Formats: sequence, C-alpha cells, structure tokens
Amino acid sequence: MARPGLYRRFRKLLIANRGEIAVRVIRSARAMGLKTVAVYSEADRNALHVALADEAVLLGPARARDSYLNIERLIEAARQTGAEAVHPGYGFLSESAEFAQACLDAGLVFVGPTAAMITAMGSKSGSKFLMEQAGVPLVPGYHGEAQDEATLANEAARIGYPVLIKASAGGGGRGMRVVRAAGDLTDAVTSAKREAKAAFSDDRVLIEKYVQNPRHIEVQIVGDSHGNLVSLFERECTLQRRHQKVIEEAPSPTLSPEQRETVCAAARRAAGAVNYVGAGTIEFVSDGRDVFFIEMNTRLQVEHPVTELITGVDLVEWQLRVAFGEALPLAQDQIRLNGHAIEARVYAENPAKNFMPSVGTIRTWRTPAEAGGLRIDAGYREGDAVSPYYDAMLAKVIAWAPTREVAIERLNRGLEDTDVRGIVSNIPFLSALLTHPDVQANAIDTGFIERHLTQLTQDGSAAGDVELCAAVAAILVDEQKSASGERGSPWRSSGWMPGGLRQRVFSFRHAGGDPRTVTLAYGPGAQTLSIDGRQTSFSIIPTDDGGFDLVRDGVKSHVVAVVEGHELYLRTRNGRFDLHWVDPFGGDDEEQDGEDKIVAPLPGTVVALLAQEGAVLEKGAAILTLEVMKMEQTLRAPFAGVLKTIKCKVGDIVQEGVELAEVEPSA
Ligand code: ADP
Ligand code: ADP
Ligand code: MG
Repeated sequence: MARPGLYRRFRKLLIANRGEIAVRVIRSARAMGLKTVAVYSEADRNALHVALADEAVLLGPARARDSYLNIERLIEAARQTGAEAVHPGYGFLSESAEFAQACLDAGLVFVGPTAAMITAMGSKSGSKFLMEQAGVPLVPGYHGEAQDEATLANEAARIGYPVLIKASAGGGGRGMRVVRAAGDLTDAVTSAKREAKAAFSDDRVLIEKYVQNPRHIEVQIVGDSHGNLVSLFERECTLQRRHQKVIEEAPSPTLSPEQRETVCAAARRAAGAVNYVGAGTIEFVSDGRDVFFIEMNTRLQVEHPVTELITGVDLVEWQLRVAFGEALPLAQDQIRLNGHAIEARVYAENPAKNFMPSVGTIRTWRTPAEAGGLRIDAGYREGDAVSPYYDAMLAKVIAWAPTREVAIERLNRGLEDTDVRGIVSNIPFLSALLTHPDVQANAIDTGFIERHLTQLTQDGSAAGDVELCAAVAAILVDEQKSASGERGSPWRSSGWMPGGLRQRVFSFRHAGGDPRTVTLAYGPGAQTLSIDGRQTSFSIIPTDDGGFDLVRDGVKSHVVAVVEGHELYLRTRNGRFDLHWVDPFGGDDEEQDGEDKIVAPLPGTVVALLAQEGAVLEKGAAILTLEVMKMEQTLRAPFAGVLKTIKCKVGDIVQEGVELAEVEPSA
C-alpha cells in the first residue's frame, strides 16, 4: 500500500503539537540524532516544548484553530526551517487525513499512517464497516450516513436503551452522551452534535448499545511499510471520568493469557485490514466476557508509556524508524511482556467540582526523581501558565514494578512526592483512587469514578492539631516573606517574634467541614496556640526546600506549605491537607455556593441557554452551558428560585468572573 519514497530517512523533524507529547517526541528524536523544530501559539511562547527544541516557529494566536490546527501555517513552518518530516503527536491534527495529505503534497514525511488509512480507520463509523468485513466483533449499533431525527430515533429503539451517542469523528470523550430513555434522545443528540461540531468541525453521530459496567481494553499495534505488523500487548484503561481515561495500566489485570492472545489477534486482524503503517491502537469495550471493537486511534496514544515500560520498546523511536522506511526491529515472537506498569494523568482540574478545568500560573512544580521504576512525562514547569485554550493534562506519572501491587504502590508514592500548586490539580483524587480497595482488587468498571466521586473527592483524614498549627505557621512564614520581600529568613535560629499584636484569632475550614478556630498568643521565645482550650507551644525553623520544620511541644516534624491567598496547601507527616483560611477581614469570598449571581468560573464561550428568563428553577436546574477548555460545563441553579435575568447570549466569549445570569430565591 505504501508508495516508495513515502517513508524515507530524514534529519530534521517538526513536532506539530504542544505540551507533554511535544516534549516526549523531542526526547526520542534527539536521542536518535535528529534536529527538532517546535511550533507554538502566542499563549505558549514560554512553554517547555519551545525551550527544548533546537528551533521554534510561532504559528499564530492562542486559539488552536489559528495555531496548532492551522495546516497551512504548519507546512509553512516546516518550509521555513527546512524540516523534512512532521510528527503530529496526539490530539490536534494527529488523526487528520487532510493534514497527512498536505504534508505528503509538500514533500514532507508524515510520521504516521497514510491519509487513506486515516480516512478508513479514523472515523468511528467508517472503521466499523471495515471491522465487520474483517470479522472483528462490534458493539451492536448504528453507524450509517443518515442523520435525521427519525432515523436516529428508530435506530436507538431498535438497538434498545440505554444507548450511547458518539461523534463519528470523536476523540477525547467529546461529543458522547449516554441516553437511558427515548424521551432524552433529542436533547442528547443536539448537544452531542454541537460539541462534535465545535471540536471536530463534523457533527455526524453514531449510536451504540451502551454496554453495562464495561471495561476498556485496548491493544497497541505497530506496522511498517514492508508489510510487518505486530501487537505489543494490551492496556486496561477502565478508570475514566467523562469517558476520558484517568489511570491506565499494562497488561490488563482482567485478561487470562488466552483472552490476551485472542484480543491481540483481533487487533492485528483489525489493523491488517488496511495494511496499517505506523503506531495505532485498537480499542475494545468488554462486558467481562466478550470484547467488542469500538474504534481505532491512528496515532500514538497518551497512555503509550505503560506499554513501553512492560516491553522495553520506545514507541516514538519505532514510529520514527517506520517513517524512515525501516522494517520493525522486532518480530512478534521477540516481543516480551515484563512486569506491570501503571500511569496516572495529572490534570489541571477540580474533581470535586465536576472536573472543572483550572487555569492560572503554576507556582509550585515538584516531581520525584525518575528512579526506582518511576517515570515522569511532563509538559510544564514552575512558573508556566495553564491557559484556557488547550487540554488540561499537565503531566503523567508512570510506575513500573515486577507486580501490579508494587507498581501501584510506587505510583502512589510518586504522586505523594508530586506537588503542583497555583492551579487546582487532581493529584489528591488520583491518590484516593489508587488507594481504594476496589481499584487495588481490580473490581472496577468505567462507571467506578462517577459512582464513588463523593468518597474519592473528600479528604479522608480530618485536619488535626498538627495541621492547624502548621497552617498558622505557614501564614506567619508567608507574611514574614512578603514583609521582608525575600525568601531567606531573618529568624532561622531564634523563635521569630512579630511586634504589635499580642493575640490573633484564625479560623480554618477543611474539606467543607465546620471551621475550627485557633488563637495565637505571642510571647517571648516560642509562641503559643490555643486549640479548643488546649495550649501548644511551637516554633518554626525554615528549611531549604521552601518548607519548614515545626517544633511543637518539643516534637519536630517537617511541613511543606504553599499559601495562595486564602488557600493553604499543606503536607504534614499525616499527608496532604488543603485548608481554607476563613479570614473575616480579608473580604472572604469562598462562600459562593448559594450566591444568586451565576458567574463564569473560567473564560469560555456560551454555547447554549437552557432556561428562559422568568423560569421557575429547582435547585440544580441547568441554566446555561459554557464551553471551557474544549469541554462543555453546565452552570446550574444554586437553589430553588426564579431565573431573574440572563446577561449573555449564545456565542458570547466571556471572561472569568463575568456575571451570566441571576437567580432570585423562592420565598
Ligand atoms: P482517546 O481518549 O481518544 O482514546 P488518548 O487517551 O490518547 O485518546 O487522548 C487523546 C487526547 O489527548 C486528545 O483528544 C486531547 O484531548 C488530548 N491532547 C491532545 N493534545 C494534547 C497535548 N499536547 N497534551 C495533552 N493532551 C493532549
Ligand atoms: P473516544 O474517541 O472519545 O476515545 P471511544 O469510542 O473510545 O471514544 O469511547 C470512550 C470511552 O467510552 C471508552 O473508553 C469506553 O469506556 C466508553 N465506551 C465507548 N463505547 C461504549 C459502549 N458502547 N458502551 C459502554 N461504554 C462505552
Ligand atoms: Mg477512544
């Protein structure tokens, strides 16, 4: 299938992506002696991938459409720099047949399959026709061209509810809606089409039977232009939120060796159906007994590192070798499975608030050393901005060990030693997931996170006296730092004594619990705290890592603390604690719940108004939908009442904090 010359040796590679995947590709390309060219948008001038590449080209404004998705600009950037090949990464244009073709037409090697293969396999519906022919088992469903309401309703009824609506061109969980009853179909189709249109410029949908309590199992395959095609075992990616993977592992702890061979053989058949060239993934859902094909991703996948760690293969290196026109370095029977690997995706998002993405400046970025089975693939550094324009994934923490049990333990340790501050991250949530007994026992399905969300997002341990004392100490340290305007400390040896105040009252709230009050009395020498009538004396000794040792009633323990306004992020010997400092004088604005004004939580675009002025709303009723970081977020009534005003219209681009609507509480 591959034409001669399509794949050939090159020396300079342009990476048409950003973030951790651009960084990841640069690493392997450089190790192979290639020169690398990064591309970036105006929002990414100072990004890590730009700093790491040999050269970098500005594409245009922040919006992906004007930069990372702008095919003309990308081809032009390759021309300008003399790049001979393009690696698309994942997301963005990685599954764009048009882009693959444009590269070929411009005389560039596209590191991936041909445009024809992407067209055949890249669309969820198109690939299903091929899989039917190749005898790969499919989920019952409808993947026809007709998109009218009546056809979709008839097909959904034929398949039987619950059904799953998917964007044919979909990816990253976007444009997917579970529909449990016929009455909900129209709304779900409308919103799926809207999201699909925005994300993929293609609003076609397909319908599948919604498999109950499913597991997600996928097989890594790689083909070369000489007709060789191998599978590199499977990954299990069952832990998902909003149909987007959160934790991935390899091999699947669910499959027996026979099932493993069956699913890998089905995957080779699937890819063989188009004589696939390049790295790709065949995805299946499983009901516990059988596996059904759902889609092929004609690119490298976010979770590829777990496969690399159990096989010892560098998949980016293989992609580049295949693009050079070389044959695969290993035959099927030379690919061995060794140990177990597990990965956690670190996102800038708040799991407790429906995974709302978080934007801002990363003030603290600390990751553990890549040793003892740990690997960190990151796209960000301290001081970097997380902008609202792109995917919220910041990094991946990956662990390998001889057994699953130890791999989980190592990953958990790795996450404990990862500190990301300034934006909200999902790290505490990831730790809660990994330590959950059902996850450790692999008693999970793709709905696990949703069902256990409350438990997974609440802090298990209550803040005790150590944490309250650490919180006061952190505030004092922070105030001292801002007063002296420098990081070094004037009070390293003696107990520091601020002048003026003799007594000060602090109130802290932890994980939505009742506030606890602490009284600080300043005296000579050590300071004293009164917590619930008990006296504690303490002093603070700053340490070089930015934290401090807290000496409390003669016992010394280490504290890592970050103070962001009224939010205190603490790590004490008892674990991680996020405390809110309820400051009566500081204009405390935390109590937003129950606020009658509906404001944009992040910059975004208004994509739908779901209630009309004057409407009577139940608590939690949907008011409008914003698109933020490519994900739809529905804003809801904070209490029962009447929708007094709507202050925006569909299409408005709104900044964070802008008032969008007002609800009047019912008397
Ligand atoms: P899928 O979810 O489609 O099975 P992956 O798990 O590989 O596939 O995720 C791909 C998703 O990664 C894209 O749809 C996109 O949301 C996200 N993404 C794209 N580019 C980047 C990037 N540079 N950094 C982080 N995430 C990205
Ligand atoms: P995307 O392109 O967004 O990755 P997929 O088709 O791969 O879309 O589906 C994403 C996830 O949704 C899968 O990993 C799986 O967990 C779940 N899923 C997909 N199809 C079904 C189905 N028919 N029934 C139940 N769950 C499904
Ligand atoms: Mg998928």
